[in-house]
Amino acid sequence: MNPELVLVRLGELTLKGRNRQRFERAVLQHIKRALGEFPELEYKPEFGRVKIYLNGRSYSDIAGPLAAVFGISSFSPVYAASLEPEALQAAAVGLMQALEPAPRTFKVSVRRVNKSYPYDTHELNRLLGGCILRALPGIKVDVHRPDIELKAEIRSEGALFYHQVTEGAGGFPVGTNGKAALMLSGGIDSPVAGYLAMRQGLELEAVHFHSYPYTSERSQDKVKDLARKLSQYAGGPVRLHMVPLTDLQTAMHRAYGGNLYITLLRRSMMRIAARIAEANGAGAIVTGESLGQVASQTLPSMNAINAAVRIPVIRPLVCMEKREIIRLSERIGTYEISILPHEDCCTLFLPPNPSTNPKLKVVESMEDKMPWLKEAEDSAILRTETVHADAERTEDDALSAFF
Ligand code: ATP
Ligand code: MG
Repeated sequence: MNPELVLVRLGELTLKGRNRQRFERAVLQHIKRALGEFPELEYKPEFGRVKIYLNGRSYSDIAGPLAAVFGISSFSPVYAASLEPEALQAAAVGLMQALEPAPRTFKVSVRRVNKSYPYDTHELNRLLGGCILRALPGIKVDVHRPDIELKAEIRSEGALFYHQVTEGAGGFPVGTNGKAALMLSGGIDSPVAGYLAMRQGLELEAVHFHSYPYTSERSQDKVKDLARKLSQYAGGPVRLHMVPLTDLQTAMHRAYGGNLYITLLRRSMMRIAARIAEANGAGAIVTGESLGQVASQTLPSMNAINAAVRIPVIRPLVCMEKREIIRLSERIGTYEISILPHEDCCTLFLPPNPSTNPKLKVVESMEDKMPWLKEAEDSAILRTETVHADAERTEDDALSAFF
């Protein structure tokens, strides 16, 4: 049995009035884009939900892409029947008989939207429950914890049946809460942070720092692959700004190679990311930092690094532990890319004992003695290349000028 349509319930309980309308319109757009390769589908938005008529397309083709769209709380494949009692019974029995494994217990829940229908809810429950009990040997009714709850909606144009409710990705459609710059490394954490930021409705501009030729071209390709993976959730290309950091690092290391080197380098990375964010209309920086993971992610380190910029820094993973992060990265499909070997710019010139307790005053006074630093940051920004990472394209990504 192939369902006739899919009932999609739109999420975010907290939204009201105009915000809700805007939200629902945006989710519908994202749904249509995610299912763009199936022109036979028809969409009927209703308050708080969307009906997608399959017109022969199989449900299994659309369930995967639908599960990735943000703003959907759940969805169900729905079977249609005409309103004659015999047709309702045939549909209910047919649906129950097709289930694998065969359910041991069930319950019928009828919603009578069409108030002039000659049978009331109670009678309908009995009518449908009775025919299922007769048709499926051994099955029992359990109103508290049934294996299957068969829901029927009696409307004036016909009846709808469903029993399966799949949880959606939740959150907000990408872009409905503004834009942020994601500091994207080749590791496990930052792509997950990017995913969570997008799920909360942020559009992303990804920023990656590389130390070519010390870090390889392959490492850069890996970051592009990660951005491409994220673009699947964005519903369109993600712009990836590739910042060359080698000259700045070399100059900094020549001036100072001690335990505060990473703190100083990270402050420069933050300042550059903040300027790229501002130039692209992004109101925050997102990082994959998680408290305590490495020397630069202790509270004193994060504070000393954060103090380099005024723009808010969002750290979706700050209180998540590594196993949770890995589980999430496996689920969203970035893990298998992240674990491929790569070199990160931060490991170049890494001091043997990076400070876990940097003092802001000390760090600032060291920067005062590096008058060339501002120019090195300007130069890195000027030489930044922007790539459009698009899930649809596998060959070379389009390049564009920075601003
Ligand atoms: P990840 O797995 O995301 O690389 P990590 O645990 O390895 O994180 P760090 O290398 O200390 O931690 O990086 C912390 C955060 O700083 C990253 O999550 C990312 O947001 C940012 N970052 C680190 N390296 C880069 C880079 N080369 N380009 C852009 N951002 C970076
Ligand atoms: Mg890293």
